[in-house]
Amino acid sequence: MLQRGRFDIIAGPCAVEKESFQKTVDFLLDRGVSHIRGNIFKPRTWAHTFQGVGEQGVSELEAARGKGAKIVAEAMSPEHLEFLRPRADVIQIGARNMYNYPFLSQVSKLKVPVLLKRAPSATVDEVLGAASYLKETQVALCERGIRCFNTETRFTLDLANAVLIRNRSEFPVIADPSHGTGLRELVSPMCMAAMAAGLDGVMIEVHPDPERSQSDPQQTLDFKAFDELLGRLEGLANALGTPFLGC
Ligand code: PEP
Ligand code: MN
Repeated sequence: MLQRGRFDIIAGPCAVEKESFQKTVDFLLDRGVSHIRGNIFKPRTWAHTFQGVGEQGVSELEAARGKGAKIVAEAMSPEHLEFLRPRADVIQIGARNMYNYPFLSQVSKLKVPVLLKRAPSATVDEVLGAASYLKETQVALCERGIRCFNTETRFTLDLANAVLIRNRSEFPVIADPSHGTGLRELVSPMCMAAMAAGLDGVMIEVHPDPERSQSDPQQTLDFKAFDELLGRLEGLANALGTPFLGC
């Protein structure tokens, strides 16, 4: 699980896809990234669009774990939770479920580590309040952008309040510049900003061929862009004296 005072990376595709998931897992593990996005259930705005591979994706998660990956996977319902509990290392509670207090309490009781994402309209107080329902388990928080007047970016990555949330709690706090901006070109600069601001990591969408990704292609990095980002983050971590990835 993520720790305060270190800078870690959670990376992987928006959603597990049978054709490419292992390729991404192998690439990331080779780069020292062990927390892998392994979403088989996807919250999608429209019901007719790709909803994730579902339970059929379990062999992909098992194969990745066999190679040493730590799977971070979103549960949206008690049924998902039951299914993912033995198959994921961290349960993600997505932005849409941050206010689902009975669900948060249920996850807490299972004592599985949780990554809780900020809802796009949540105040600092509401994020900390939601986290208070997760008292019985290990928690990390994730800033993933808030809803704003600006339409150029998908959301507005609110790093200032991410720092405030970190200052006012004891949780590791990370940023998700992929969903937070919706634009590939902004992922690397916002990762750098997150590290410089003293956050504890980032969550990034990576796919071998982003344009063929079934969801969120426009905000997903290819392997080359990810390697470039890793080099930049390494340089910044050295300059700041921030423990980075496994080092
Ligand atoms: C995700 O990380 O896969 C996701 C759906 O993000 P969010 O809950 O922040 O929209
Ligand atoms: Mn996505």
